[in-house]
Amino acid sequence: MTFPTRIGFDDARAILARVAADRRLPAERVALARSHGRVLAQDLVAAIDQPGFDNSAMDGFAFRHADLAADGETTLRLVGEQFAGPAGDRAVGPGECLRITTGAPLPAGADTVVMKENTGLDAERVTVRVPPRPGQHVRRAGEDVRVGDALLSAGQVLTPSRVALAAGQGMDRLDVARRPTVAVFTTGDELVEPGLPLRPGELYDSNRELLMGLLRADGFEPVAWPRLPDDPDAVATALRHAGHAFDVVITCGGVSAGEKDHLPELFRREGVIHFWKVRMKPGMPVLFAGSHSALDNPGSGGLGDALFLGLPGNPVSVLATYLTLGRTLLDELQGRTDARPRLRARLRAPWRKTHDRLEFLRGRLACADDGALCVEPNPADGSHRMRAAADSDALIVLGEGALTLDAGAVVDVLAY
Ligand code: AMP
Ligand code: MG
Repeated sequence: MTFPTRIGFDDARAILARVAADRRLPAERVALARSHGRVLAQDLVAAIDQPGFDNSAMDGFAFRHADLAADGETTLRLVGEQFAGPAGDRAVGPGECLRITTGAPLPAGADTVVMKENTGLDAERVTVRVPPRPGQHVRRAGEDVRVGDALLSAGQVLTPSRVALAAGQGMDRLDVARRPTVAVFTTGDELVEPGLPLRPGELYDSNRELLMGLLRADGFEPVAWPRLPDDPDAVATALRHAGHAFDVVITCGGVSAGEKDHLPELFRREGVIHFWKVRMKPGMPVLFAGSHSALDNPGSGGLGDALFLGLPGNPVSVLATYLTLGRTLLDELQGRTDARPRLRARLRAPWRKTHDRLEFLRGRLACADDGALCVEPNPADGSHRMRAAADSDALIVLGEGALTLDAGAVVDVLAY
């Protein structure tokens, strides 16, 4: 069976997006308090005006602007009060004013509010020292939102401001995309759990924490499997189990061409490889697969219905492939339409790229004196150099082909 291989990065993303769109997760209704960070699965249309009524923007006195003297101070009769809360029925007549607080409904008859600080109060007489403009300090009903306005649309991420917008509409529940369940595997006979002693040739498993942290930071609740040995049967058994229990299975290691890289063969035999190897650096061997069963016979044997993303083992490859491809998959499964921000920054040092692949180089963002965003590339560009990634906070995107970039050249960056 043939599959796309050594494809361009954009093609890989397009394949991920297409496969995920076919497998879009269903919506679920959640309480507003649980909706933060989720992808909205409904359009939100305003059911009420906001503000719902004319109200005061200040603590002060509500009155009729026409009562102000042509010049000099004006004195008004204080005839009552209207605090934020249920609207009273005392209207404001000529020469009168009502004490009012921020958010209180504007009394009938009044059209303007003078702030407390610009008045003098003597018994029941209020002197307006600094005259407001007509209608000043009054928030008009519907000036922010009108009934029927389209407020949010399916696919948008529920930021705190958007959840607050929904709350302001009185909504206590929202339809959001179900979050994919994710299983995380690390593979390799050389790996040891942090805390245990190392023998010659071994190293600590750092990718599990990397992946778990990246996934959690994106709002998922990933489950980590015990590390897998480089044994084809053990790998197959574990992935079959996970494939039946999770929406997405992310592995790292074992996807290259080495004798101990068993994953490509497993997916070739039991699944469908959507692509294997992408012309990117780091992360070239990345593999994306699904199962036959999901296509031909949902729910039957094999690898289950999960989508499998096989990331290479080198830690910086895991970082780059998760941020650029893994996220695309998870975003698309939820129907997310808000793009992940890509910034533009000036290189702080020249860079020579001698290979052909698209590169995600590590770098550190800073703000130049003139306010422009700039990025310092980290010369330790090996895909095993986690320290350089830890010292950095952005991936610098360098296009395909050999490039010589001068200091000051403008590049795309992905902050992480
Ligand atoms: P592989 O893709 O399995 O050939 O692994 C590539 C490189 O990444 C090798 O040097 C591995 O030792 C290393 N590696 C693989 N998995 C991990 C891991 N979980 N933590 C740290 N390094 C790893
Ligand atoms: Mg390995």
